[in-house]
Amino acid sequence: MTTLSAPVHPAIANEQQYILQTYPRPDFVLERGEGVYLYDTAGRQYLDFVAGIAVNGLGYGDPALVQAMYTQATRLVHVSNLYHTIPGSELAQRLIADAPAFQRVFFCNSGTEAVEGAIKFARKFARTHHNAEKKTIVAFDGSFHGRTIGALSVTARETLRQPFEPLMPHVRFATFNDTAGLADAITADVCAVIIEPVQGEGGLRVASTEFLQHLRMLCDHHDALLITDEIQCGLGRTGTLWAHEPYGIRPDMLTIAKPLANGLPIGAILLHERVATTIQVGDHGTTFGGGPLVTAVAQVVYDRISHPAFLQHIREVSTYLDAALVDLMQRHPERVLELRGRGLMRGLRINGSAAAIRAAGHQAGLLVATAGEDIVRLLPPLIIEPAHVDEASAKLDQLLA
Ligand code: PLP
Repeated sequence: MTTLSAPVHPAIANEQQYILQTYPRPDFVLERGEGVYLYDTAGRQYLDFVAGIAVNGLGYGDPALVQAMYTQATRLVHVSNLYHTIPGSELAQRLIADAPAFQRVFFCNSGTEAVEGAIKFARKFARTHHNAEKKTIVAFDGSFHGRTIGALSVTARETLRQPFEPLMPHVRFATFNDTAGLADAITADVCAVIIEPVQGEGGLRVASTEFLQHLRMLCDHHDALLITDEIQCGLGRTGTLWAHEPYGIRPDMLTIAKPLANGLPIGAILLHERVATTIQVGDHGTTFGGGPLVTAVAQVVYDRISHPAFLQHIREVSTYLDAALVDLMQRHPERVLELRGRGLMRGLRINGSAAAIRAAGHQAGLLVATAGEDIVRLLPPLIIEPAHVDEASAKLDQLLA
């Protein structure tokens, strides 16, 4: 007897034949989204706790975003950075108005490009104010800062680095949350330190207050720039506009990207004026960065997320999610070993394979991400409501059983 299997969707066949195979993808094709739900070509619904990897903070099909996209697309999409345009200048003004630590913005197109820019600016700052020997960049174990050579050089995971070596020299790795060990790593030759206040890909570890404050103090002592990479944890994701806020420290540069235009490609570096003044016309550039379309959309996203009532919503729904995750851990003490993360950036360290939970989630209509072998990562859209948390935790309860 032969069994009939469903025909492979042409999008999957084409992907497997023509697209460079850098991602393993499940065997369904997502076609549209609405609110916090996605739908595949077979009409199946998925509750989305991935949000395009912490990108779609406002979910799918938000009418104001669609309108902003349409209006700006009919007006002007791209002219390059050779000319003045309006939306980017307005977005920069808004970002700076709310962030007293920074006076300038550089727009680019992705997270990794923001990290590349920050590395270059740090080198130029040290060369201008000190000398060319002050060139070491310090990063931490468990870090993820991107895939281009500079950003990969400050990314810790060996399997990502090793195939592409030699990477950028003069990078030193220190131990995340090892306050006592910092003094050995942050020395006079260090021009910058890059850190995710809440690590994403590296396993949802949260920097301790003591650690980040001591790091700031040592950076000041050696005039090394502190770069907080908030590409994943910034812009409301952890319950405050910027993830460094609860630590009471001010970074010298901030890298942001993912959620800023809710899915259109954008990155940005926010800089303190004393760093900005060392960068001259011609030092850095980008053809697309900060273009009118993406920055018009980003204004709508930024205005929504930065609103105090929206940040309050994130904190409230995070508290609700916290309680649901604690309950899950109590119901499955042998399966859920630890809860990590903060706000709407959460990890469940499990006994077993996180990828298996993710795959079972596809069958159950719940999208979750992973971080390493044993961490199930939850990154829901920031607009989720308690009812969505209930739905996700009921599904997770089944998946963990
Ligand atoms: N930095 C952090 C903290 C990230 O989480 C990521 C992506 O996951 C990046 C940098 C790289 O961003 P992108 O994938 O947009 O290049």
